[in-house]
Amino acid sequence: MLALNLSKIRTAHEQFEQVYQPGALERTADFRVVAPVTLAFDIHKDKQQFRLVGHVQTTLELPCSRCLDGFEWPVDASFDLRYHPHVENAGEGEHEIEEDDLTTAFYEHDEIDLGQLMQEQFYLSLPMKPLCSDDCKGLCPVCGTNLNRGTCDCKRDWEDPRFAALKNLHTTKKEF
Ligand SMILES: [Zn+2]
Ligand SMILES: [Zn+2]
Repeated sequence: MLALNLSKIRTAHEQFEQVYQPGALERTADFRVVAPVTLAFDIHKDKQQFRLVGHVQTTLELPCSRCLDGFEWPVDASFDLRYHPHVENAGEGEHEIEEDDLTTAFYEHDEIDLGQLMQEQFYLSLPMKPLCSDDCKGLCPVCGTNLNRGTCDCKRDWEDPRFAALKNLHTTKKEF
């Protein structure tokens, strides 16, 4: 765990900057970290509450959703996160914390898990539909050839039935 030790933060405003090698981060199935990760933020301390404002930069490798090839995805994400102490057996008053506020999290044992913070920022930066390029030709559905790199002789004249219906409609109109 890449922990930020909160007990060492004694002043109201401190700064943190660190470069991590890709291997220092936990692996995920969704992407690979392929460049050093620069994490830099300001820490604003207010009694037991901490606010981390900064950014994280690196390069990820994602699988293309069409051709499955890996491609590089640069990340430069800004964040503004608030951390409250996790209170066990909290009284009624403790529920005042904005639970629906996505930027509010909890910490335990005087530590913030920076590995988790970075992974969350990486996930937030991922595209909805990862593509190696906008005009990626994908894989041949018949033989699996990567059509960006080669061709094949398969018949791939599948047509969307909705478009076919539309086409028929137009031709009928013309004949009218
Ligand atoms: Zn692709
Ligand atoms: Zn084919």
